[in-house]
Amino acid sequence: MRQRVTILGATGSVGTSTLDVVARHPERYEVFALTAARRVDELAAQCLRFRPRFAVMADEAAARELAARLEGAQLPTRVRSGAAALDEVAAHPEVDAVMAAIVGAAGLASCLAAAAAGKRLLLANKEALVVGGELFMAAVRQGGATLLPIDSEHSAIFQCLPEDPAAWPARVDQIILTASGGPFRQRDPATLGDVTPEQACAHPNWVMGRKISVDSATMMNKALEVIEARHLFGLPSSRIQVAIHPQSIIHSMVQFVDGSVLAQLGTPDMRVPIACGLAWPERVESGTRRLDFRQMAAMTFEEADPVRFPGLQLAWQVLEAAPGTPAVLNAANEVAVAAFLEGRLRFDRIHAVNVETLAAVTPSNPQFLADLLALDAQSRRAAEQAVGRMSS
Ligand code: NAD
Ligand code: MG
Repeated sequence: MRQRVTILGATGSVGTSTLDVVARHPERYEVFALTAARRVDELAAQCLRFRPRFAVMADEAAARELAARLEGAQLPTRVRSGAAALDEVAAHPEVDAVMAAIVGAAGLASCLAAAAAGKRLLLANKEALVVGGELFMAAVRQGGATLLPIDSEHSAIFQCLPEDPAAWPARVDQIILTASGGPFRQRDPATLGDVTPEQACAHPNWVMGRKISVDSATMMNKALEVIEARHLFGLPSSRIQVAIHPQSIIHSMVQFVDGSVLAQLGTPDMRVPIACGLAWPERVESGTRRLDFRQMAAMTFEEADPVRFPGLQLAWQVLEAAPGTPAVLNAANEVAVAAFLEGRLRFDRIHAVNVETLAAVTPSNPQFLADLLALDAQSRRAAEQAVGRMSS
């Protein structure tokens, strides 16, 4: 039987890479639903090619435009809009696997819907897990979902770990997340105030969406990934380390209690962790270029400079702080990155917005999705105020 797949965030970088892998294996995968925020042209083209049962646009006007565009094309596709429709295609009884590739906390509700419905949940949307935290993991357990990491580092760790999660705490000593260091690894930190969005988005090794590209440049991406790893693998944050590895060949490592280290290697191409998650525990062709060890230059490692990358340490701080604090940090960072991309905030002030927002908002033990969404909204307001103060 073919796996029926919903792709949330189909028009994005991870979404299109997922469709690339899915298209290589028509005998294994069938597209059930595709979703996007507001890019009608891209989603229409994907619908014509993959003929999904549902197409969902977050934006209502965009959905009307999509429906008009698809009229007469004789597709089986029903067009929907809004948050409830996203949840519906994530939890639909006929769906086997859900690729969560929306960017930001906007993807939290649909992730929780897929988890509660017991789906095979392929998680690229790290912000959803950073914000959802314990609530997210409880939904996975209670729904009987299979959570498969798609973030390349977490896929690497997952592939290196013993199959039985019950064995992890006793056998694993450290998780070592690798980081490329982004485009500004060697730039004079004193000049980081002049950085443009185009420079920040020009990642040396990966082609990605704009938000995660900026996060890679500040290394807030790695901070979010430390929090993500804490939840996915259940180890205390003191056993999670970060090492800069500019070549992005080793995607992360696990050090066991006997000192042995396992690493996962590959070309920096998201189709590899995507294919791994789709087929797990089997393996399928991803379309990636093979590593050629005869051609490979040196692999190097260095420590992240705390002056250049002050945001990285926030990961351990928010994990030690009151429950809900990671959600405050995530919201602040989403607001600060958007303000930077819109030219309203200097690159080197993203961190200051995050720190000010953490100081301004005290979470009161969020228990339910509604509490987290309220905390997210409150943190965004505080972050907008911080942006306002810093740009004036
Ligand atoms: P992107 O910006 O390229 O795509 C985002 C997708 O989400 C688009 O389809 C967009 O239409 C949709 N979307 C955006 N806002 C939405 C909203 N409010 N409601 C509904 N849909 C919305 O982003 P990306 O680079 O593909 O990243 C997606 C997620 O995967 C992020 O969480 C990112 O951190 C993670 N991730 C990406 C990569 C990568 O290589 N791009 C690697 C690892 C993890
Ligand atoms: Mg990553």
